[in-house]
Amino acid sequence: MAHEQTDVVVIGLGVGGEEAAGRLAEAGLHVTGIESRLVGGECPYFACVPTKIMVRAADLVTEARRIPGMAGAAAVTPDWAPVALRIRDEATDYWDDKVAVDRFTGKGGHFVRGRATITAPGEVTARTDDGATRAFRARRGIVIATGTDPAVPPIPGLESTPYWTNREAVQAERVPESMIVLGGGPVGAEIAQVFARFGARVTVVEAAPRLLPAAEPEAGELLASVFGHEGIDVRAGTPAGRISYDGQRFTVHLGEGTGAAEQLLGATGRRTSLAELGVAAAGLDGYARAIAADERMRAGDGLWAIGDITGVGAFTHMAMYQADIAVRDILGAGGPAADYRALPAVTFTDPEIGSVGLTEAQGRDRGLDVRTGITQLPSSSRGWIHKAGNDGFIKIVEDASRDVLIGATSAGPMGGEVLAALVLAVHAEVPVPVLRTMIYAYPTFHRAIQDALRDLAAGR
Ligand SMILES: Cc1cc2nc3c(=O)[nH]c(=O)nc-3n(C[C@H](O)[C@H](O)[C@H](O)COP(=O)(O)OP(=O)(O)OC[C@H]3O[C@@H](n4cnc5c(N)ncnc54)[C@H](O)[C@@H]3O)c2cc1C
Repeated sequence: MAHEQTDVVVIGLGVGGEEAAGRLAEAGLHVTGIESRLVGGECPYFACVPTKIMVRAADLVTEARRIPGMAGAAAVTPDWAPVALRIRDEATDYWDDKVAVDRFTGKGGHFVRGRATITAPGEVTARTDDGATRAFRARRGIVIATGTDPAVPPIPGLESTPYWTNREAVQAERVPESMIVLGGGPVGAEIAQVFARFGARVTVVEAAPRLLPAAEPEAGELLASVFGHEGIDVRAGTPAGRISYDGQRFTVHLGEGTGAAEQLLGATGRRTSLAELGVAAAGLDGYARAIAADERMRAGDGLWAIGDITGVGAFTHMAMYQADIAVRDILGAGGPAADYRALPAVTFTDPEIGSVGLTEAQGRDRGLDVRTGITQLPSSSRGWIHKAGNDGFIKIVEDASRDVLIGATSAGPMGGEVLAALVLAVHAEVPVPVLRTMIYAYPTFHRAIQDALRDLAAGR
């Protein structure tokens, strides 16, 4: 088969791939972008955007329910129909990517709808939707931006049931009467709270001892307490056993007992399939979980990897950040290399859990001279004024030997927005004495950072 010549092949036009491919095309390179599903990837169609539309709707319902006792009377009748419609109509164009494809080709990119495989260094084959095969030879190289898929946990019985992942959950046309959520990480926690606030009886099953296992323990404990008050049954430290489906209900074995629900959501992580992508043909390990990329996103000779596939933080902002670095490297434009010290993450539950950098445990594991400070939001001025829904805290982690923050968690109303100041402090290594002398507006939520700094000074 004759090879089509191109400068760069970008495999996967999700968040990272679309950004990289578009920018390279705008810079005048001949770019071939290959996408097997939807240009834009997981984030706009199945992840960040639709789930945040769901979160926004659930927050509105809950804020309205907080009116009694603070602002009068309110009768709230949640209705999923406008949420489902907004996702279908406004956010995803009924899961159609024509606008995104046009955006890419409008920048001069060459679009191929198909499944790509690396067949040799610098060579990619695409099996297109109409069954044809096209082969490409990339003069400058290949960018791998294939993201991840929902992982199927190895629980007996699960695979033969019609369980949901995030991809089905965002397409829900009605709220199930009851739901078991496998996995209490960010994805499971966000979706669990949304459906519970719209009336589903929800159980969250998490094998680790706490919700949000990767976050500070205080975050998972806070969320479990809030979820408990909202009627969500949290089963932390409970690995799910055999699962069955009788045509109407799922049954999950949980320790000594069982749980049953109309719907089951699998939110236990993500998987990659590097062997299927043919990375071995480019000299990489096909059995690895992720592709190791250096600080310029180089994964080999004429090979770059960006986004979730690099395994260093599965976030849209990370995929965009890495895309920028790879583009600059391919174009020989120079500029800063990757620096992940101040990687932010936000779990959009209510309260929002924002985090940056290292947790206290991660700092200690690295042998750093860790000191922490923590303050509870309800005892801050703004927290007291806010009253209903004021749960939250700010925790800061300091490398005491350098007097700089290396990590922080901001949980509470707008916790993800409050996080920005802490991200700046970690990123720029602002000395803690400088943070102490700043003026924090009264009465904001972020003013609690000052209280956390006072707690740090108290030597905890
Ligand atoms: C429920 C949920 C909520 C989330 N919410 C947030 C959030 O609020 N904020 C945030 O920052 N992140 C969030 N994320 C994470 C975010 O969606 C991902 O980090 C982001 O989409 C990663 O971008 P990517 O470009 O690496 O991969 P993807 O967006 O997954 O894109 C990869 C693309 O590659 C294509 N592809 C794969 N293999 C091939 C192949 N062989 N040939 C051709 N094409 C291929 C896929 O079809 C896909 O379109 C969320 C994730 C989930 C699951």
